[in-house]
Amino acid sequence: MKNQFGNGSGKVVECRCSICGGLVEPWPGGHGFGNNPQPVRPDINDRCCNRCNAEIVIPARLGLPPGSLGSLEEQRSQMEKAMELFQENKSKLTDNSV
Ligand SMILES: [Zn+2]
Repeated sequence: MKNQFGNGSGKVVECRCSICGGLVEPWPGGHGFGNNPQPVRPDINDRCCNRCNAEIVIPARLGLPPGSLGSLEEQRSQMEKAMELFQENKSKLTDNSV
């Protein structure tokens, strides 16, 4: 098993969430770390973890109090349900159009 955290490349491979201080996971394929925490943190170089993004940053952008969109897990399951519905509707639409 190869370690994905850049074996000996000398690059900084650790990123901390600017909101909770937790470790921010890198995106697959080396596309940087985490999420943009604005407007909760004003510095564009700051990063935040997926949980803070879902529970604090996105509500803040909508002018809502933290946690008002539910936890990260709740948002994920809602997203999955929405995707299932979308796939269902899509296949129905394709059936009807034939
Ligand atoms: Zn965080």
